[in-house]
Amino acid sequence: DLAASQQSDRLMIEEFDLVACCRQVSTSAKQLHAQSISIDCADEQIRITADPTKIKQLLLILIDNALKYSKRSIEVRLKKELTNVEIRIKDYGIGIAQVDVRNVFERFYRVDSSRNRKTGGTGLGLPIAQSIVKEHHGTIRIESKEGIGTEVIVQLPLEHKNPLPT
Ligand code: ATP
Repeated sequence: DLAASQQSDRLMIEEFDLVACCRQVSTSAKQLHAQSISIDCADEQIRITADPTKIKQLLLILIDNALKYSKRSIEVRLKKELTNVEIRIKDYGIGIAQVDVRNVFERFYRVDSSRNRKTGGTGLGLPIAQSIVKEHHGTIRIESKEGIGTEVIVQLPLEHKNPLPT
């Protein structure tokens, strides 16, 4: 799986614009799907210090999932806060049942394998997404209703906190 093969341990922290990064990922994700992606952001730029390769991988996993499990267009919202940026990826697709939401961050977990047969996947996307968010000292959560849609909400600090040397 592409997402899994790009996984590496060390973070390469740089300053970059998350809005541009998000547009770049959307452009490549769109080539694999029929729907469109709207990006909503009040700021022209949101500068963050983080690992750009990993943040791209995170966005690609979440945007690809939203497109994979929905027939309609999806929405990506970026909101700059005092010390954080909030990223919301929202789809109006099949959704996730309440009993499954708590499990989707487990490796290889896929909701109802028969339903998922048409859309390939390994069940590694969300666990990788979660580990990237954790490495960046952020949070990730899912709000979903079966048959209505799913929203993934990520909070990342604008400034990366390096772990203290031991
Ligand atoms: P891949 O490793 O290729 O991403 P995957 O999509 O099966 O495969 P995860 O990204 O870890 O793996 O997702 C786990 C499961 O959570 C999926 O199989 C799917 O059942 C459910 N899921 C994830 N995102 C969504 C979404 N936006 N809408 C509905 N179900 C979702």
